[in-house]
Amino acid sequence: GHQIGDELLRLVAGRLSEEIRPGDTVARLGGDQFVVLAHGCDASEAAALAFRLQTVFALPFRVGEITVPLSASIGVAVARPEVRDAHHLLSDADAAMFAAKSSGRDRVHLFSPSLREAARWRLEVATRLRDEAIDQLVVYYQPVVRLDTGAVEGVEALVRWQHPERGLIGPDTFLSVAEETGQIIPITRWLLRETTRRAAAWAAEGLPLRMSVNISARHFSAETLVRDVRLALRESGLAPEQLVLELTETSVAEDPTRAEDQLTVLRRAGVRIAIDDFGTGWSSLAQLFSLPIGTLKIDRSLLVAAEQVTGGEGGAVLAAIVALTRTLGIRSVAEGVETVEHLRMVREAGCDLVQGWLIGHPMPADELPGWLRRVQAAGGDACALAATRTPVTTAP
Ligand code: C2E
Ligand code: CA
Ligand code: CA
Repeated sequence: GHQIGDELLRLVAGRLSEEIRPGDTVARLGGDQFVVLAHGCDASEAAALAFRLQTVFALPFRVGEITVPLSASIGVAVARPEVRDAHHLLSDADAAMFAAKSSGRDRVHLFSPSLREAARWRLEVATRLRDEAIDQLVVYYQPVVRLDTGAVEGVEALVRWQHPERGLIGPDTFLSVAEETGQIIPITRWLLRETTRRAAAWAAEGLPLRMSVNISARHFSAETLVRDVRLALRESGLAPEQLVLELTETSVAEDPTRAEDQLTVLRRAGVRIAIDDFGTGWSSLAQLFSLPIGTLKIDRSLLVAAEQVTGGEGGAVLAAIVALTRTLGIRSVAEGVETVEHLRMVREAGCDLVQGWLIGHPMPADELPGWLRRVQAAGGDACALAATRTPVTTAP
């Protein structure tokens, strides 16, 4: 509640004030952002101050009966002869703080000029995405294939931005900004509509494909996921069984109860749930497997790690994960399969499904039917077809 929040802010301000030198200033900029203005510091003194301020958060804060652990992301910027303007200095500090935040919580980050470029880009993305850019989003589709028969089971929808000046931009460069500004919710809502409509149209053409859509953690806290999914299904007429929602383990772990409630409702409605990027987070397996999960997507990093271990031990790790999911009745997808050797490894490990550049790159919607027909013409086994091709290991 507000009262506790206000009291916490006062406590933080109090502790920060104790760490600064006489004559320096602590102020709150708004929300949970504070600024510390220190006179006559060079970069290394400013960094030392930042690390000292970080220790302020070592002990949890106590408000009445409640103990609250807090951490801080700290950005440091230093005035230079060419940066004397207060607004510049603040925006540099802000860019550094953003970099600290994105490299994980509880970090200190020093400003560098390249961060200013990044900050400019973020601002542009934030502004543009708000106004006209949803019309400029395009969805690429990457095939997901069964390992036993090589049959194409479905596709994963991957968003790109057809930027008027910069060309086609990958999701990693703009989705983090969209998450921050909350734009990710309308974007995902649009994506759900677009992809379910697309899948329904393909099914009507005799190409029934299961459609996987990535869902961000923000969507759980907004509590509109269930409604947005239902609406998209109703409008498109797509069977709920043909829709898979991909969630990362970290997004689920952020608020497991809330995630479980919403996922249970969706699962009851027939929608399938997949855990994305498995192996990159540190979630509790017990917690993860208490969710109504149908599929586990094994991150490419596990594949790469397995490949680097000599003597076949790496394959054993993959096989153990797959065996675990199988015991729980969960299907596994090997992500990022780029080479014939990868394909062999994941097949030996017993994975159910496979996805990666070896099988097929993400492609625009109008190229997919042609790709599928080529697979059909070659006997319907996309794995066998891929194994005969020279692998392309760069992004299109
Ligand atoms: P992801 O969900 O793990 O998606 C798989 C990413 O791996 C895609 O990158 C895909 O192009 C890439 N990939 C596929 N096969 C291979 C391969 O063989 N080798 C390598 N090295 N990479 C491969 P992309 O499209 O750049 O997407 C990056 C991430 O952006 C996605 O990771 C997902 O987390 C996020 N994303 C993409 N579209 C959406 C979306 O519509 N909504 C949300 N919330 N996130 C999205
Ligand atoms: Ca995914
Ligand atoms: Ca993934």
